Amino acid sequence: MPKIYLIDVTNRDGVQTARLGLSKLEKTMINLYLDEMGIFQSEFGFPTTRHEQYYLQANLELARLGILKHIVLGGWIRAIVEDVELAFKQVPAIKHLNLSISTSSQMIDGKFKGRKTKEDVISEMTEALDAALAHGAESVGINAEDASRTDLDYLVKYGRAAKAHGAARLRYCDTLGYDNPFSIYETARTLAQKVELPIELHCHGDLGMAVGNSIAGAKGAIDGGQDAYINTTLNGIGERAGNADLVSVILAVTKSKDFNEKYQLAGDIKLSQAWRLAQYAAYAFGVDIPLNQPGVGKNCFAHASGIHADGVLKDPQNYELYGFEELGRGEPLIVDTGREICAGQYSGISGFRYMVDKMSKNTPETISLPESKEKANEILELVRYANVEAHKPLVEDELKFICRFPEISRQLLTMTPLE
Ligand SMILES: [Zn+2]
Repeated sequence: MPKIYLIDVTNRDGVQTARLGLSKLEKTMINLYLDEMGIFQSEFGFPTTRHEQYYLQANLELARLGILKHIVLGGWIRAIVEDVELAFKQVPAIKHLNLSISTSSQMIDGKFKGRKTKEDVISEMTEALDAALAHGAESVGINAEDASRTDLDYLVKYGRAAKAHGAARLRYCDTLGYDNPFSIYETARTLAQKVELPIELHCHGDLGMAVGNSIAGAKGAIDGGQDAYINTTLNGIGERAGNADLVSVILAVTKSKDFNEKYQLAGDIKLSQAWRLAQYAAYAFGVDIPLNQPGVGKNCFAHASGIHADGVLKDPQNYELYGFEELGRGEPLIVDTGREICAGQYSGISGFRYMVDKMSKNTPETISLPESKEKANEILELVRYANVEAHKPLVEDELKFICRFPEISRQLLTMTPLE
């Protein structure tokens, strides 16, 4: 039976969002958390973007060392040979890519302005795909940007060309959030049947249906006999009205009426990581979790009205569809309300030593600074650089990461502007 795989695109689509962004260390932490949660793939960034190259290499190194255990790290580029060449020049160890090009008449006419025909789009995509495979890529997904406004026969032709040239998947991008669950179900099923490739569902929330469309599309792909891959982001952060939220998608697949009997997530997804991951994403993006966010919002398990409070106290299932414990909620939070010593870009060694000592007291793994003053100062220097990018105090997990992996931290913090 085909399954549903999750590809989180926070580190690619999420960071493209206007007014928002993540530091390279924050992107790395997200890859680590997604890996712990059992997510299949992280679309971890842009291999053709100059300032991403050291971060991408550092994360591939984390995977090589087994620190990132299972998660697939996929880069995103345009489906042109030039991008493929640059990606492998800047990040030679990259093994998984998604290549993207617009397929709708709106975009072909409106963006390329007569420079490319529909036939050119297919030939550019297959040439780029050939080039990526020739460079040793292990999996290449092909994206149809604005697929929901693309003529279906043409989309089938595009997908078949991708399959013939060795693509691993076809990404159906509902770039403008134009689909509804009924339309995307039909289209995804037809594509699965006629293209015979696994179908990725990339949905946006312009009409408030990103999660519904994602699972309807996944159902269509599976009914058409293929695996489905849902693209998600943390807390639904993404361009304009956002993308399909990771936690909501997991809840929708596993908890909605009768869905899970036939349509199941692949792998061992640890929903218990949801709370921690959502909190971290909110801090990293500087965007609070909405009060009513599914699963992780402050109000999801709050009851005020008499009838509801009475009902939930008698039996939680009266008014709660799932338990808060399942999402990793319910642990008391310890918040310091007195003196605080924070890491910053001008931190000094004594304050930093104090923070590390304090951290190691509440942590199972021992974290300590090297005895040598010189080595300890090097780690402090990395923390200062991380703060230059983050503009807010680093959280404990980030400080621990730098203490444990100073060399990788140095690599991912490296940026060389134009010489
Ligand atoms: Zn998108």
